[in-house]
Amino acid sequence: MSRRAVVIGGSVAGLLAAAALSRSVDEVIVLERDELPEGPQPRRRTPQARHAHILLPSGRDAIQELLPRVDVRERLLASGAHEQPLTDMLGFGPQGWFRRWPTVTDELLLTCCSRDLLEWTVRGAVLDTAQVTVRRAEAVSLLGTAQRVTGVRALSDGAEEDLRADLVVDASGRGSRVEHWLETLGVPGIPTDEVDSGLVYASRVFSVPKGAEHFPVTQVEADPADSGPGRSGNLVPIEDGRWLVSLAGTRGGEPTADPEEFTDFALGLRHPLIGQLISDAEPLGDVSLSRSTRNRRRDFHKAAMPEGLVVLGDAVATYNPVYGQGMSIAALGAQTLSRQVQRADVASPGFARGVQREAAKSVSAAYTLSTSQDQWFPEVVGKAPTLVDRLLSRYMGRMARVATTSYPVSAAMCAVLTLQADASRLVHPKLLLATLKGPVLEPLSGPPLTDEESAFLDSVGPIPV
Ligand SMILES: Cc1cc2nc3c(=O)[nH]c(=O)nc-3n(C[C@H](O)[C@H](O)[C@H](O)COP(=O)(O)OP(=O)(O)OC[C@H]3O[C@@H](n4cnc5c(N)ncnc54)[C@H](O)[C@@H]3O)c2cc1C
Repeated sequence: MSRRAVVIGGSVAGLLAAAALSRSVDEVIVLERDELPEGPQPRRRTPQARHAHILLPSGRDAIQELLPRVDVRERLLASGAHEQPLTDMLGFGPQGWFRRWPTVTDELLLTCCSRDLLEWTVRGAVLDTAQVTVRRAEAVSLLGTAQRVTGVRALSDGAEEDLRADLVVDASGRGSRVEHWLETLGVPGIPTDEVDSGLVYASRVFSVPKGAEHFPVTQVEADPADSGPGRSGNLVPIEDGRWLVSLAGTRGGEPTADPEEFTDFALGLRHPLIGQLISDAEPLGDVSLSRSTRNRRRDFHKAAMPEGLVVLGDAVATYNPVYGQGMSIAALGAQTLSRQVQRADVASPGFARGVQREAAKSVSAAYTLSTSQDQWFPEVVGKAPTLVDRLLSRYMGRMARVATTSYPVSAAMCAVLTLQADASRLVHPKLLLATLKGPVLEPLSGPPLTDEESAFLDSVGPIPV
């Protein structure tokens, strides 16, 4: 029997879900209310794209599995994306500077480019190889009953149309109205969890100064153990010889959109390196601000969901962006859908619930990682840390200190942070022992710079006090 699926939202989660479905479903229609640009350009409905967006290796691999006929990685690199070994970036964590290990293994490579380039490349790959139709339309409600969703009502050019579907995927992002639509069908509230540190993101693009072309991703993290608000920063090399610099502050320590204050904020972080790097760099535009940074998870898999509806991407959960997880979780959710769709008919009983349950596993892992740090900042809205959280945090703090001096411990932590290994890896006996023994080398007194990087910093001048 012929099957049709409708996907709401034509961004990362929606496009990848459409690719997943196209392998087994006869007709896949993506509804996107935004005008999609011809090239890697900004668009209105994804304002988050102005901020640093890193793709984790788990997300990269999921995208590759979903689009086997296109080498998405190669296309990104050909368009100027960079690959950054996670263990060779300049990272200043609460426990100090991480040593650098330039070991290159695919599992530890971050993909660094603008979010516009990434989305455009994924869109091109999906439309080049998958049987998918994208329609400029807004989904306004779900059709069906509390037992089964049977389609979507779509609004386009002022006219409404009912699109019947065997499966509907909601991938309409953090502003998704799916909860309201479900309520209208008579489905009771969805269990929700929220941890909000009031984080504000401020980002600006710079031209990479001469002599600084080989600077890696540079990150200065907040220290939740400090009594004040957490302030952090990221400098990410992106295509076309640019740096995308994102600064962030929790409640009481927020950055502003004032360009005059941007570099000062960076210089005032726990270490001034990012401020020093951009102090003489040419800005390529204004400062963009985002307050859409709270952690929020909606446990659709625990609710009495109707058949015929799956929710993926930010519509399920959002995370503190500092951990760079959202797009990868969207890709892992689509990967789950793809694997299930190859095993069972999308209209079969329990299909949607099975996908939702499976996809919840990576959502839960990412959410736990993201909230485990955020819950320590002052004036956080959400659940207070429990005794177990406190013990775990002390253990993780000690392990992170060891990781600043040990490649195996650092690599194990990175594998968990990039969602490639289960958190249980962190309590492997070897790691427990290494953590109990403590650091194997003296802590670094400053950033571990190469000669070329030091020479560039010397040329910029002394760090203002
Ligand atoms: C400041 C910031 C920094 C971030 N940094 C990172 C990072 O470094 N790495 C990372 O992986 N993630 C990062 N993220 C998260 C990432 O942006 C999201 O996880 C990702 O965009 C989720 O994709 P999505 O497709 O679920 O939603 P979105 O990208 O938000 O797309 C939703 C789409 O649905 C469409 N839509 C909405 N409603 C309707 C409707 N009713 N009908 C039709 N279409 C509709 C919208 O127009 C939009 O195109 C960051 C987020 C923020 C806010």
